[in-house]
Amino acid sequence: MQIEAQAEFDSHSHWFTESSLAQSSRVGECLVCSNLTHCERQAILSFLGEGMMSPRSRSAFLKGNGFCARHFWMAKGIEENEWPARALGAAILCENLVTIAIEKLPSTKDLSRRPALGPFRHKPTVNVRRGGWGCVFCQEWDKREESLIEILQYLKHKPAWSEKIARSPLCVRHGLMALQVWKNPSDKLQLREELGEQLRQLQADLKEFIRKRDWNYRNELVGREQDAVFRAIQFLIGPARQFPVQKAGAEGRRNNGTRNR
Ligand SMILES: [Zn+2]
Ligand SMILES: [Zn+2]
Repeated sequence: MQIEAQAEFDSHSHWFTESSLAQSSRVGECLVCSNLTHCERQAILSFLGEGMMSPRSRSAFLKGNGFCARHFWMAKGIEENEWPARALGAAILCENLVTIAIEKLPSTKDLSRRPALGPFRHKPTVNVRRGGWGCVFCQEWDKREESLIEILQYLKHKPAWSEKIARSPLCVRHGLMALQVWKNPSDKLQLREELGEQLRQLQADLKEFIRKRDWNYRNELVGREQDAVFRAIQFLIGPARQFPVQKAGAEGRRNNGTRNR
């Protein structure tokens, strides 16, 4: 099993992924989440830096109807941070999409037609696709996510890695994915045990957190439950630092569409 697994891993030629994962393991959060977040930022930077000038990347962007909301706002924030004086990438991409949106406006002829009235009149079908439905960064994320899970099942048997993986335990989603993807039953049983243990610990911490919010127990000392909500969201959904850009100054935009300067 070991030799077979090692050969399969080597055939992936993922040595670069291994070194990138080694970096991510220093953070101490779910190894897959950390690596995805890191690579997502790198991908956006490189797209804005040079990638978008290549006709292939630009056409992939347009084919996907732009970026999804998460990645468009991230790209704008990253660009403003990296190149504050000459941020132009998002403007060019938006201009492309605006041009297409103008071309795709429904014709005035179609709109002037009055819908049929009467007993057989049906509610019109609404069919407007979400902007960025084929976002290139989302596609990259999905592909990378699955390949990371596959790679981990081989890495965890390497001596230097078992400790790194133990220090950055998988979140619920990536744990469940590993239980579907991994082949070795003993690896899966061990992972299931770890996930269950983490969930039970979180459950106890959350119950304690809720109990101590009761007026009657307000004078009790705070314990390990104090960051239980943060840890629970991180374990259930993913790390908070996935959203560094939205956090910085997003308030002003959300309220009135203008920025506070
Ligand atoms: Zn994760
Ligand atoms: Zn996306």
